[in-house]
Amino acid sequence: MAILVTGGAGFIGSHTVVELLENGREVIILDDFSNSNPKTLDAIKKITGKDFKFYQMNYLNKENLEKVFEENSIDSVINFAGFKAVGESTQKPIEYYINNVSGALILLDTMKKYGVKKFVFSSSATVYGDPETIPITENCKTGGTTNPYGTTKLFIEQILKDTYSSDNTWDIAILRYFNPVGSHSSGLIGEEPKGRPNNLMPYIARVAAGVLDELSIFGNDYNTPDGTGVRDYIHVVDLAKGHIKALEKLDREKTGLYIYNLGTGIGYSVLDMVKAFEKATGKKVKYKIVDRRPGDIAMCYADPRKAREELGWRAELTIEDMCKDAWNYIEKNS
Ligand code: UDP
Repeated sequence: MAILVTGGAGFIGSHTVVELLENGREVIILDDFSNSNPKTLDAIKKITGKDFKFYQMNYLNKENLEKVFEENSIDSVINFAGFKAVGESTQKPIEYYINNVSGALILLDTMKKYGVKKFVFSSSATVYGDPETIPITENCKTGGTTNPYGTTKLFIEQILKDTYSSDNTWDIAILRYFNPVGSHSSGLIGEEPKGRPNNLMPYIARVAAGVLDELSIFGNDYNTPDGTGVRDYIHVVDLAKGHIKALEKLDREKTGLYIYNLGTGIGYSVLDMVKAFEKATGKKVKYKIVDRRPGDIAMCYADPRKAREELGWRAELTIEDMCKDAWNYIEKNS
């Protein structure tokens, strides 16, 4: 029985496929390369020494998607296909709602048709909006998202809850990611944002590499220890391993809807990240303080206890690992 991984050539998808293959799982990747690189597929094979089936297609095409379910014996689906640039989502809300929400609906409808009910969904800590309490537990209120990207995640979570309520033979895990960074230690797969990066870590790495001049730190007057924004950065390999543990949980339980935060539980500020990157790589990161970025919140970090207790998962890699691996990928690929 195979696991269908939509968006399996992307940043988190490719790292998860590596872990799945290394755990002896059979994988089928579906990707349209709209925000990923075909060379990632060879890199996955090189890292794992294992093969997988691949379909180059967009999951919005229901006819093609049904063919994938016809041709294979699929047992579960992990959905990474989705647009993820927060800034872009404010400029292209319709495209984001179509790709993320309609895509998820088409996928779920096809799964239902073929009797496949095990589903792992890539959600995000953005569903908490400006969190009521910190650290954030899974019981914290969701909503109040500040951009269409976050709202697509919130809507899909609701669709999944309604789907499970209507038919409790579904077996669903919703994983709320905090801030994924770093890359596989081989340096063969990693994060490749198109154009100028929006996220902190890829930006820092490109300043260190001399590709970009200087980091703009968005505000140093937040109510945080050093005034800059605090986030829960998590190594993408730890995050990928969380998916294996979630799948194992779904295999054990057979039915249910489970929600987990995937974070480290540790908050680092923007300045902490700059310093950690300089220390881990020996490179200088030039920065200046500018105005706050609209929509940003002061602090966001997870209470990761539920995943530890119910999945037996915890993040193991350190901030130093995250910085070193992010840098290793840049050095090997520029
Ligand atoms: N940030 C920054 N400069 C940048 C990018 C990000 O100061 O060029 C800050 C941002 O304000 C936030 C943190 O870094 O406090 C993480 O931002 P990112 O976009 O990586 O993730 P977010 O938590 O917003 O999804």
